[in-house]
Amino acid sequence: MSSAESVRVRAPGKINVFLEVGDVKDDGYHDVATAYQAVSLYEEMTATAADDITLEVSARGPVDIDGVPTDDRNLAVRAARLLAETAGIDRGVHLSIVKAVPVAGGMGGGSADAAAALVACDALWGLGMPTSELVRLAAQLGADVPFALLGGTAVGTGRGDELSPALARGRFDWVLVPNEIGMSTPVVYGELDAHRERHAVDIGPAPRVPAVAPEVLHALRQGDAEMLAASLRNDLQAPALHLRPDLARVLERGESSGALAGLVSGSGPTLAFLAADEESAIDLQVTLSAAGLVALHVHGPVGGARVL
Ligand code: ATP
Repeated sequence: MSSAESVRVRAPGKINVFLEVGDVKDDGYHDVATAYQAVSLYEEMTATAADDITLEVSARGPVDIDGVPTDDRNLAVRAARLLAETAGIDRGVHLSIVKAVPVAGGMGGGSADAAAALVACDALWGLGMPTSELVRLAAQLGADVPFALLGGTAVGTGRGDELSPALARGRFDWVLVPNEIGMSTPVVYGELDAHRERHAVDIGPAPRVPAVAPEVLHALRQGDAEMLAASLRNDLQAPALHLRPDLARVLERGESSGALAGLVSGSGPTLAFLAADEESAIDLQVTLSAAGLVALHVHGPVGGARVL
């Protein structure tokens, strides 16, 4: 395998169109059952041959990159290091990320960067690792990283990283409303646990083995936006709204402005509104923008991390 001087890669953000959260386990993680859809909001990365592993971050669009570490805490740096160690090579890389996915926004931006780094370094260093091996490394980096690598539409179980592809037809149009103030995923899970403990008597125990509802898989298979709208679910939505009541107003705004349904994306605070079709999504984007909100029209499913 020959190696290159520089490689450009892009990797998508995701929406969880269904997310059921089970019990917290001894290792602190929750079992989940989720249906992921990769959407056309992409992180772009250029990987250039270098002596050490270094990183710079910039933003495209309304993304605040203040909270993004550029040292070993960055998932992309960790991905490059893990790949070099696994391949047993002593090579460096300079990674330049242009972020479009909101930071701490519940759309898996850091995971997309990690997936992009795996694909970029594999190409830059001429490793030619099989996808199955990259997926194995991805799972070591974070629960959402394998999906960012593969993209499309998939069901995730376990921590969300045990993936099986889901059949999906057609395209779904979404309008995303990001929020300036990010949310910490562990804090939102903590709020869910606290809520379940407080209300254990009323709502019963969390489901032992979460599963994706058949209606969701049916709607994805049919490419039927109305059916999908009726079956969207996110167990992190209630705790996210409890922590950030301001989001409920925006959710209502989108739903009363022509969206089929609105949903907190992952652990929030990004809100995802499903539109009936492309035209309705454009209308909704215009309406929400006129109301002073940042609104982005995207579509899914799209492919995973790939060299451009
Ligand atoms: P998820 O939905 O996967 O939980 P998220 O989209 O809510 O994640 P990210 O933007 O992926 O959130 O990152 C959350 C935190 O992780 C950030 O606040 C930052 O401190 C840290 N981080 C590490 N690497 C990155 C990266 N490459 N980009 C953004 N944040 C990163």
